[in-house]
Amino acid sequence: MQFPPIKKNVETMPVQPNLLDYEHTCATFSWDEVRRSFDGLPESGGLNIAHEAVDRHADGPRREHIAIRCLSKDNKIVEFTYGDLKEGSNRFANLLNKLTVTKGERVFWLAGRLPALYPMFFGTLKNCNVFCPLFAAFGPEPIFQRLERGDARVLVTTERQYNKKVAPHLPQLPALKHVLLIDKEEDLNEQVLSLPRLLETSSSLFTIPPTDPEDMAILHFTSGTTGMPKGAVHVHNAVLTHAVTGKYVLDLHPEDIFWCTADPGWVTGTSYGIIAPLLHGITCIVDEADFDAERWYRILQDQRVTVWYTAPTAIRMLMRTPPEQRQRYDLSALRLIHSVGEPLNPEAVLWGKHVLGLPIHDNWWQTETGGIMIANYAALEIRPGSMGRALPGIEAAIVTRTSAHSVRVEEPDIKGDLALRVGWPSMFRAYLHDEERYRKCFIGEWYLTGDLASRDKDGYYWFFGRADDIIKTAGHMVGPFEVESSLMEHKAVAEAGVIGKPDPVIGEVVKAFVVLKPGIKESEDLRLELIGFGRTRLGSAVAPRELEFVGNLPKTRSGKIMRRLLKAQELGLPIGDISTLEESES
Ligand code: AMP
Repeated sequence: MQFPPIKKNVETMPVQPNLLDYEHTCATFSWDEVRRSFDGLPESGGLNIAHEAVDRHADGPRREHIAIRCLSKDNKIVEFTYGDLKEGSNRFANLLNKLTVTKGERVFWLAGRLPALYPMFFGTLKNCNVFCPLFAAFGPEPIFQRLERGDARVLVTTERQYNKKVAPHLPQLPALKHVLLIDKEEDLNEQVLSLPRLLETSSSLFTIPPTDPEDMAILHFTSGTTGMPKGAVHVHNAVLTHAVTGKYVLDLHPEDIFWCTADPGWVTGTSYGIIAPLLHGITCIVDEADFDAERWYRILQDQRVTVWYTAPTAIRMLMRTPPEQRQRYDLSALRLIHSVGEPLNPEAVLWGKHVLGLPIHDNWWQTETGGIMIANYAALEIRPGSMGRALPGIEAAIVTRTSAHSVRVEEPDIKGDLALRVGWPSMFRAYLHDEERYRKCFIGEWYLTGDLASRDKDGYYWFFGRADDIIKTAGHMVGPFEVESSLMEHKAVAEAGVIGKPDPVIGEVVKAFVVLKPGIKESEDLRLELIGFGRTRLGSAVAPRELEFVGNLPKTRSGKIMRRLLKAQELGLPIGDISTLEESES
């Protein structure tokens, strides 16, 4: 069913949107001009995200403005002004320097949305080290994989996370020299130190060393269909995209109170939960707790949130609550709602309009793009179900591969691979230690995103699905191979095939099909044991929620599991000509 477009009337908006004339802005846009609008480092003139997002404001009229307001699970508030953040991050940068952490070395974070993150994030960038976040709901295995592949030199975490998930693997991580515990007043030993103790004696003065815009700044792990997680490398120059999208897509204005619900373990949580709003010198809300409808409405009301960036799973969970619940809250401060991470169904866009009083603006991007690439904009018509139009400065297209080295750019309304012309500032620069996988993402001038979509004649993009077997569950990306490998470590398991099973609320549920070793009998106890085994190793964000025993798994001639066939069987879809099922690799 086609939903009618949602027209906008700029005259009645409480704030004039930053992007009014889309065509003109696209036609006159220049990344060089954006680059010139940045301050640059005072002495060396280089480009460092921490200077642009924090120090620039701390040294100017916004010094006392609240940059970050953290709400704890038990409703305590910790705030950082821009001045506080400058000093706190200087302390952390000095500490890294003292620990002789050198340029380009990786500093990992594993502690969720806690206040200590913010000085640590910017201090890492100031010392020209690389920030790498880990999702706190990961189990020991995904954490170990990433610490190892990312050559972690420092890990900042809590005592509980450390004991439960990191300590057992420590001997296998020789590069990891220091674990800094944010909630411990004394050191555990020479390697596991108390962060508060170290910060006490660390100076609050620090000069950011010369930083090249192409220096590595952030490493975000993402999942592929085959193989283990990929570390997408981002550089300081990405800050140009963060600034432009903050202005044109999120439509940030100086007095905004902005709430991005994403966890910093994922790219949205850093690009938009930290960098973009601070570049614009505004106040950013951070909630430590997980989703809870009542709590979220209360935060929107009490914090007077003006711009809200959230995700389809959360919106669909809110849609399940009775409308009267929302009626109890005053959401009059809110003027814009954005969503990202999974397809946003048109019903959700309209629900926003009817129940929250504002339509929801869907936008599209991914870990590799570093920032929003396609969006619905405050002043422009929304076509419910569409991800919107390309950001000014970004050339997107629908392409079809014509050979290993060439693509054909398709006409409107043809389904194909969503591609972006290379060269935008926040484009990932590598998959760490995996040159071949990186190279495979590009054909000529185009980066192929792995998504299938179409574009209508007005340039609105419509999402169809992934071209590979990657699973999106509650907005989190899960690589089936990682889950299969982990299940196969159980003594009863001969083989496992893992798929995303469509779910009306969380998008997809991770489902495993398991072949048992000869002589082992299927039983409900064993099924539950395997689910528990997955949860303990992989963590709740990754482990299969459903598990079914099967006699065998469908395979290609070369022996690879045909996950798409498993999925078709699960959904009761016609299996069709299986010889055309490609072996996807990404
Ligand atoms: P990640 O790298 O974890 O941020 O995931 C990126 C992937 O999420 C994209 O390649 C899409 O498959 C999916 N995605 C992100 N935003 C949207 C959206 N607005 N609509 C549909 N899928 C999306």
